[in-house]
Amino acid sequence: MVTAVAQRLLSQRKQVDDTLAHFSLNRDQLRVVRDKMRVELERGLRKDSHSSASVKMLPAFVFQTPDGTERGKYLALDLGGTNFRVLVVKIRSGIRKSVRMYNKIYAIPHEIMQGTGEELFDHIVHCISDFLDYMGMKNTRLPLGFTFSFPCRQTGIDKGSLVSWTKGFKATDCEDHDVVDMLRDAIKRRNEFDLDIVAVVNDTVGTMMTCAYEDSKCEIGLIAGTGSNVCYMEDMRNIETVEGDEGQMCVNTEWGGFGENGCIEDIRTKFDREVDEGSLNSGKQRFEKMTSGMYLGEIVRQILIDLTKRGLLFRGRITEPLKTRGIFETKFLSQIERFISTYTLIIALMHLQSLGSTCDDSIIVKEVCGAVSHRAAQLCGAGMAAIVEKIRENRGLEHLEITVGVDGTLYKLHPHFSRVLKDTVRDLAPKCTVSFVLSEDGSGKGAALITAVARRYCGQHRL
Ligand code: BGC
Ligand code: MG
Repeated sequence: MVTAVAQRLLSQRKQVDDTLAHFSLNRDQLRVVRDKMRVELERGLRKDSHSSASVKMLPAFVFQTPDGTERGKYLALDLGGTNFRVLVVKIRSGIRKSVRMYNKIYAIPHEIMQGTGEELFDHIVHCISDFLDYMGMKNTRLPLGFTFSFPCRQTGIDKGSLVSWTKGFKATDCEDHDVVDMLRDAIKRRNEFDLDIVAVVNDTVGTMMTCAYEDSKCEIGLIAGTGSNVCYMEDMRNIETVEGDEGQMCVNTEWGGFGENGCIEDIRTKFDREVDEGSLNSGKQRFEKMTSGMYLGEIVRQILIDLTKRGLLFRGRITEPLKTRGIFETKFLSQIERFISTYTLIIALMHLQSLGSTCDDSIIVKEVCGAVSHRAAQLCGAGMAAIVEKIRENRGLEHLEITVGVDGTLYKLHPHFSRVLKDTVRDLAPKCTVSFVLSEDGSGKGAALITAVARRYCGQHRL
C-alpha cells in the first residue's frame, strides 16, 4: 500500500520535473542565445540585412542624453504600457534642477485597442482634452512628447510610422501610418485645441533618458513589463540605415522580435508555441513572448492545463479559471512566487483563482511559475550581455562600466526576476560592470526630457 502511494508520488514528481526541465537553460545554451542575439543586432544595423532582420534596430533620432540644462514645461503622452497617461512635466535646470509631474491615468478599453485606428486616436485626444480641462490648460500650447511603446520606423524625432502593433493592441489602419500624423488628424477632427508635437519616443528611450538625467553612465534603457525591449547608444558609423558617421544615436532594438526567423526554435517549448498561436500576433515577437509579463502567465497556464490533463495536478479537473486566457497576470505570478508558506499559497490560489486544492498542487504551481520566470530573466540577461559586449567592443575597451535604466512591472514586482537577470549578465559579460537603476516613470519624464533635448538640438542646428 505504502509503496504504491510512494511510487505514484515518485512518478508524478518525475513527470513534473521532466516537463519543467524544458525551461531550464544551462550556461552553454545561454551563451548561444547571447551570440545569436549579437548576430541579429548586427544584421539589424546593416543596410543589406536590415529589412529582413528579426531584431529591427530602429534609429530613434536621439543623439545625446540630457546634460542637466534642460528646462521648460511639456506635455507628455504615454501609450502602450499598462495604462494610458497624460502628463504635464516641469523641468528646472541650475541649482533648482528638478522634474515635477502631474498626470492622469486613463483606461483604454479593449474594444478601442482592437477597434479602428480613428477610434483609438479619437479616444486619446478625448483623454487629452479632459486632462487639459482638468489642469485649466486648454489655451496654452505646450510642446508635446509622445511615448508610443511600439516599433516605429522613424525618419526624424517627430516622424515615425508604426511597423506593427504588439502586446494587446490591434487597431486597424495604423500599421505603416505615421503616428504623429494620426494624432494631429485626430486633434483636427476634435477642433478644440492645438498641440505642438515635437517628439515621438519609445518607452525604452524615455527610460534611458530619465536615468541618464541623473547618471551620465546610463546609455541603455530596458523595459521588462507587459512587453520586453531595449535601446542603447550606438555609434553612427555602425548604423548603416542612417546617413552620417559622426557621434552616436540611440537605437531602439525591438529585441522582442528576436527569433522570428526561427533562430531560437531549439529552446522554444510546445507551451511557447501554444501561447504564440493564441496571441494577437502569431509568429511575431517570439522573444517577447518568452520574456514579458503579458505572456509569462499564459505560459504558466498552458503548463498547468497540460499537467492537469495528465492527471498530475488539480485531481485532473480543468476548472473555468484555468481555461480563461490572461487569468495569470504578472502581479499574480509575482505573488505566487513570493508566498513563503504553502498554506498562504493555497489560500491565495483558492481566493484569487479558485484553482488550488491540495498542498502538492500549490507546490507544483509555484514551481511552474518559478521555472517560467527564471527562464525569462535568464533570456533577458543573455540578450543584455550581447548589448553590453557590443558597446564595449565599439569603444575598444578592455573593460566597460555602464548603467542600464530599467522600468516595467516584471522587473519591479517580481521577487527574483531582477536578481537572475543581473546574475546572468555578470556571468555572460564578464568584461562589463553593469549597474541597473530603476527609472521610475521613464515614459512620462523621458518624453519631456527628449522633447527638451530635441528643441535645444533644433535651436543649435536650426533644422
Ligand atoms: C514593443 C516595444 C516596447 C516594449 C515595452 C514591445 O511590445 O514592441 O516597442 O518598447 O513592448 O513596452
Ligand atoms: Mg551611419
